Amino acid sequence: MARREPAVDTSPPVRDEIVPTTCYMCACRCGIRVHMRNGQIRYIDGNPEHPVNRGVICGKGSAGIMTQHAPSRLRAPLLRTGPRGSGEFKEISWEEALGIATGWLRDIRASNPSRLAFFTGRDQSQALTSWWAQQFGTPNYAAHGGFCSVNMAAGGLYSIGGSFWEFGEPDWEHTRYFLMFGVAEDHASNPIKIALGKLKGRPKDRRAKFVSINPVRTGYSAIADEWIGIRPGTDGLFVLALVHELLRAGKIDLDYLAHYTNAPYLVVGNPGGADNGLFARDSYGRPLVWDRVYQEPVEATRPDAKPALTGTHTLPDGCIVRPVFELIAERYLDPQYAPNAVAGRTGVPASTIRRIAAEMAHAAFEQSFELDVRDWWTDTNGGRHGKFRGRPVSMYAMRGISAHSNGFHTCRALHLLQMLLGTIDTPGGYRYRPPFPRLSPPPAQPSGFEGEVKPNTPLPGVPLGFPSGPDKLLVDKEGKPLRIDKAFSWEAPLALHGAMQMVIHNAWKGDPYPIDTLFMYMANMAWNSAMNTEGTMRMLADKDAATGDYRIPHIVYSDAYFSEMVAYADLVLPDTTYLERHDCISLLDRPISDADAAADAIRQPVIAPDRDVRPFQDVLLDLGARLGLPGCVLEDGSPRYPGGYPDYMINHERKPGTGMLAGWRGHDGALIGRGPKNPKQLKRYKRNGCFWHSELPESGRYYRFANRDYLEWAVGMGFIDRVEQLTLQLYSEPLQKFRLAAEGHGNAQPPDSERARIRTYFDPLPIWYPPFEEAAFKHADYPLHAITQRPMAMYHSWGTQNAWLRQIHARNFLYMSRRMAVRLGLKDDDWVWIESPHGRVKAPIRTMDGVNDDTVWTWNAIGKRAGAWSLDTNAPEATKGFLLNHVISELLPPREDGHRYANADPVTGQAAWYDLRVRIEKCAEAEAGETAPQFAPLPKPPGLFEPLKKLRYGAWFRKSDDREAAP
Ligand code: SF4
Repeated sequence: MARREPAVDTSPPVRDEIVPTTCYMCACRCGIRVHMRNGQIRYIDGNPEHPVNRGVICGKGSAGIMTQHAPSRLRAPLLRTGPRGSGEFKEISWEEALGIATGWLRDIRASNPSRLAFFTGRDQSQALTSWWAQQFGTPNYAAHGGFCSVNMAAGGLYSIGGSFWEFGEPDWEHTRYFLMFGVAEDHASNPIKIALGKLKGRPKDRRAKFVSINPVRTGYSAIADEWIGIRPGTDGLFVLALVHELLRAGKIDLDYLAHYTNAPYLVVGNPGGADNGLFARDSYGRPLVWDRVYQEPVEATRPDAKPALTGTHTLPDGCIVRPVFELIAERYLDPQYAPNAVAGRTGVPASTIRRIAAEMAHAAFEQSFELDVRDWWTDTNGGRHGKFRGRPVSMYAMRGISAHSNGFHTCRALHLLQMLLGTIDTPGGYRYRPPFPRLSPPPAQPSGFEGEVKPNTPLPGVPLGFPSGPDKLLVDKEGKPLRIDKAFSWEAPLALHGAMQMVIHNAWKGDPYPIDTLFMYMANMAWNSAMNTEGTMRMLADKDAATGDYRIPHIVYSDAYFSEMVAYADLVLPDTTYLERHDCISLLDRPISDADAAADAIRQPVIAPDRDVRPFQDVLLDLGARLGLPGCVLEDGSPRYPGGYPDYMINHERKPGTGMLAGWRGHDGALIGRGPKNPKQLKRYKRNGCFWHSELPESGRYYRFANRDYLEWAVGMGFIDRVEQLTLQLYSEPLQKFRLAAEGHGNAQPPDSERARIRTYFDPLPIWYPPFEEAAFKHADYPLHAITQRPMAMYHSWGTQNAWLRQIHARNFLYMSRRMAVRLGLKDDDWVWIESPHGRVKAPIRTMDGVNDDTVWTWNAIGKRAGAWSLDTNAPEATKGFLLNHVISELLPPREDGHRYANADPVTGQAAWYDLRVRIEKCAEAEAGETAPQFAPLPKPPGLFEPLKKLRYGAWFRKSDDREAAP
């Protein structure tokens, strides 16, 4: 008799609906599919069709369920009832909350809009928030870039009209030699993981070498073929030593330099003169090169020019000039950049530097190749080419080199190295992502000049821009800053992303002026986003002794979660989670394009909020309408976007035909880039998995700075205004203009106190100097570097409220090399004091091999204030997790006259997080076991969910009747 098999359902239904949207568990913006069952999230996976992640999902992305169910979700608007910082609130209605906010903001706008400081954190709607600030009329706007990686952005945009980060990527498919500098986790997290996987899996004959330059060997570095454990803050010196070696060996792409960079531009040598160091120009203002055949100056972009790269020449008017390349060779062939000279400082042996330079040269020139172009490509001079020549050396860099006080020049040095090898936008090299490349620097200037900030009046443009010279700074007649964060002032002239880390300090001090309202979104400034955390909390709650009023009179804060910052707000506007709202990942903001295609995306609500919360973007538009901001209301005063953010995403136009989304424009959705509004646009996005992705013409995929096929396409898309070569800038004339101002030339000159600083740091060619903090204190007193990294499983503080991710990182350790631990008499799990010139923090240690001997490090943002994020007051995050932020100062030591600069890069104002210097001392036995400093536990705001003691999310899905509701 045949045996009867038991009836087993091998494929039970697990979902009844799949809703595509975009992940927001980190900044990577992968496409996800949310699988729903009976109105609840069953699980989340990667969208296989999505161009960012191709179906890949990381641990954070799939754990989004637990962020959606986090007990730290705020539930209703809150009004402070106790002293600021006490965490005492009462719930109020939205009508009351918006009425209070409108009252404060209306008064400011009617008197002096600068008294509003509006700063957003890891906000992915900056196209909206910056526009709103412009409509309000305040120059005091920025997102978090100033304390993240603005050095990277500015270094790139002032050199190659693009950058790493979201602006470009290695040519993963063709590269043969890949160098990664200072990257732990990144905004391109899944794409990098996918690409590294493919790189490592290549067949023998196409093998690529992956070299990681990073003080710490974790994450991506762990799978590198070679790890160079450099000393923090010395990457620029290492890179300039590579430049020295390549110049010495003559391994430079001279043809590329002559055609696509300003290497042949003639630089005026007139020491002390107003034109010294500027480019020699013809009567139309066009830069000149020296034609080596005719031995005369000619206009740089003349197609038949045969530009000289070397020599000293005399123009007809007697002016002495030298090509940029000559200056480069002179500077970097100097013995100070020789490998032997830099080895001690960088911690990289001279032989290694020489070998890396030789390997790069080998890959660039011996493994050079050509890619056929089916339809040929046309350059900006009209020349036709059947091939793209490849230089397969690629690089990628991020915050590790950026977050130093010398980071801007280090980023510039990296781009210099790339240009000398001819690897920018060539096969196998670095590739732009649309809408880049752009003019270097881009033409938009900041807004908020004297006379532009007026009562009840929008600014003429968005607050942030790209100063082309000293006359474009936001300073008054005495040279004093016009912005609260001092961005675009003499103290931080190229602060392209603002300097958010200085806002609270400056507002508290009333320097350069007092403000009325601090309005922040998603920025945990009372904890892990602040330097000098304890001081920042004090400043937020400090009162004027004479009046008894808070020194920052009003604080409005919007967040979805009960972060540490909530306790310091007067008014809390609760946001939704990313699964409960529409969002726009716009090309006007931070693109998700890849090198072969332009792309943008949306988020759509997957689940309805179960709380009285509203999407921040809707709230902002509502506030704008209540305030009567011109962009937010119609002529009759009624709201222009009554449908909130989705309405804005479809109907707002930045200029005719250019809106928030580039896909499916036009009445029938047939247009891309530019075109009339399409009322069905969001439907088309949703039908397509919530993204739009449009490939570039094959002939427009490389050499885009001089590729007519690409440039015409980019003009059609609205990315640039005209078809012209975008010359790469080895030598930065805008920087030289600042230097000339410091030397006493021009109408816009720095105050005397700033001249030396501007003169030193606005070098038109990359320089290296020791990080400021390292230079300010004796090495013997603080012998170690201390840095942080973002772990793959956590995105800043967000992960800590996530029950699944907390199981990976609920506490952190201070990691140090085994050799250093032996020297200090320490072993695993010992508790130590980490002392900096600014304070001390207590932590347990772990030892490891993969770290530079002079460096200690930890994971970022694991430590929490007791009670915050709805964690138990005894949660390991609060008792054993710690922050290095406590021992980092937002200010440098005083100058001779007592003035204290921001602890930042002097060019861009980027926060110098990784300049920190410390010493380590073992704790007394009795001190071990709990971190310090500790702060009073924060009480939970009214109405918050109670955390479950035991979490069994999804248990009910296993039951036979899965209609049972979740607890
Ligand atoms: S990499 Fe970031 S955006 Fe992508 S799935 Fe992971 S958390 Fe989400």
